[in-house]
Amino acid sequence: MTSLNGRTAVITGASSGIGAATAELLAANGAAVALLARRKDRLDALAAKITAAGGTALAVPVDITDAADLEAKAALIENELGPAGIVFANAGIMLPAPIEELAVDQWRHQIDLNVTAKLSTIGAFVPQLVRAAARDGVADLVNTSSIAAQNIFVNFAVYSATKAFVTHLSRHMRAELGQKGVRVSAVEPGITTTELQGHVTDPGAVAWLAGVRESMELLTPEDIARTVAFVVSQPRHVNLQQVTVMPTQEV
Ligand code: NDP
Repeated sequence: MTSLNGRTAVITGASSGIGAATAELLAANGAAVALLARRKDRLDALAAKITAAGGTALAVPVDITDAADLEAKAALIENELGPAGIVFANAGIMLPAPIEELAVDQWRHQIDLNVTAKLSTIGAFVPQLVRAAARDGVADLVNTSSIAAQNIFVNFAVYSATKAFVTHLSRHMRAELGQKGVRVSAVEPGITTTELQGHVTDPGAVAWLAGVRESMELLTPEDIARTVAFVVSQPRHVNLQQVTVMPTQEV
């Protein structure tokens, strides 16, 4: 794997699952990592683990739905670690339920985090990515989307629509920011063993997810971390626009 020495990586959703595993791998490959999420204890523990292994990590507790605080934290990160040359905009929530249940609070939660906070993250860090690309010749914005952006899952309409937004947004931003040396990629994981499913409250969806878990070997957060590390380690003229990672047995 190409060394990421000299690059600063910002990871949202770094307190668990895909974000935590990716932070650890990017740091092992030489990036200085800024770890963003709300659970400070988790971030502190991960930062300590990365530092003990010889890496550089900064724990940055923040609720990314607070755009003003996110802007302040972006400035703090640039002061401490220099401009972000990699942004893994990864935090998200999945709350499936039949549309007829009108789970309006859950719809809003998914849109606030998966769409609006994603845009706040992009807004807060794109100026740094442009500065890093001007300095290094390349920078990367990697957005976590989902296989749900492509496939149909009954009762996942709102979640899937937020992820379709992320994939389509990424394609458009790639065309725009590529001119400035900033690559944009959407990574679309299939079902991955993390805490994501633990937030689901709809009994039908809980049962469906349990059945899926029993029926196949799922992806691990480390599988997605390797994908992200691969994406950001390409030669500067290569932009992996969209990478879909599926469990071998998932249809
Ligand atoms: P996790 O639940 O383990 O991770 C979600 C992360 O988002 C946590 O670190 C959480 O930290 C953070 N987060 C949630 N709300 C906020 C907030 N308001 N401000 C800051 N951080 C927040 O799940 P995954 O690792 O699976 O999810 C990562 C991404 O992968 C998501 O976008 C998800 O949609 C996507 N994905 C996951 C799949 C899967 O099967 N697991 C499949 C396809 C896509 P904290 O609570 O500390 O704030």
